[in-house]
Amino acid sequence: MNRVHGKVVLVTGGALGIGRATCERLAQEGAKVAVTDVLVREGMDLAEAIGGSFWRLDVSDEAEVKRVVDDVVARWGRLDAIVNNAGIAGANKPTHEITEEEWDRVQAVNVKGVFFCTKHAVPWLKAAGGGSVVNVSSIYGIVSAPDIPPYHASKGAVRTMSKTDALIYAPDKIRVNSVHPGFIWTPLVEGFLTEAGLETDEGRKGLDARHPLGHVGEPDDIAWGIVYLVSDESKFVTGAELVIDGGYTCR
Ligand code: NAP
Repeated sequence: MNRVHGKVVLVTGGALGIGRATCERLAQEGAKVAVTDVLVREGMDLAEAIGGSFWRLDVSDEAEVKRVVDDVVARWGRLDAIVNNAGIAGANKPTHEITEEEWDRVQAVNVKGVFFCTKHAVPWLKAAGGGSVVNVSSIYGIVSAPDIPPYHASKGAVRTMSKTDALIYAPDKIRVNSVHPGFIWTPLVEGFLTEAGLETDEGRKGLDARHPLGHVGEPDDIAWGIVYLVSDESKFVTGAELVIDGGYTCR
């Protein structure tokens, strides 16, 4: 019940999918949760349901990131952790067909978003005497597949950014770790299948078969890993890659 009791945690992309489950599990374990997302209605409803607060936040907008991070601290007096979860799949075409704009949009959300949020959270985490940064990468930050090239590049970047920041901020007692989900059944994955021209049921079965445990994951499978990395249970864990993928990357 109290694994993260009293901690103030900001979650990006918190209205749906993995971010939503993360907000719910953190609140269940006693955190004060700042739900942030570009989806206002869903985010507000969730914040109300879990006793948190909602801020509209597009992570690719640095000025908005700074304002929201500072607002969260103004409201609760401190920041203990940030979960950099917001991400998009982007264009699913081979590399030679991708436009510069399509490439840049994925990097703006998935990579610059993590940079901006970490940059503006760190002064407050230092002020709190330490904290936790959790960056949601992917199995696609570790292994590859013949699809969504800008996404693979972005998740590889998030993996190594996490290790660099783990080293830079270890003296400040700020831990930085990456999480690497396999396929998790969320609106992002449903959209990915639709864009690939697959029926939902057929597409899901295809994804199930790629995981040695025989099925895709659910958002809580990732959320509990994030609760661990936010909590003091992981106080000796930094620069780590928490792979939660039903065995996908074992092959
Ligand atoms: P999701 O279902 O699409 O939820 C992501 C949320 O982030 C949505 O509410 C989305 O709003 C929001 N968002 C999009 N762009 C944003 C921005 N610029 N600023 C703030 N919020 C933004 O995605 P998910 O599947 O839960 O994925 C969450 C994270 O896990 C992502 O980083 C993703 O790459 C990673 N991941 C997911 C899987 C998987 O299989 N699901 C696997 C590996 C890694 P919109 O709906 O309006 O876009």
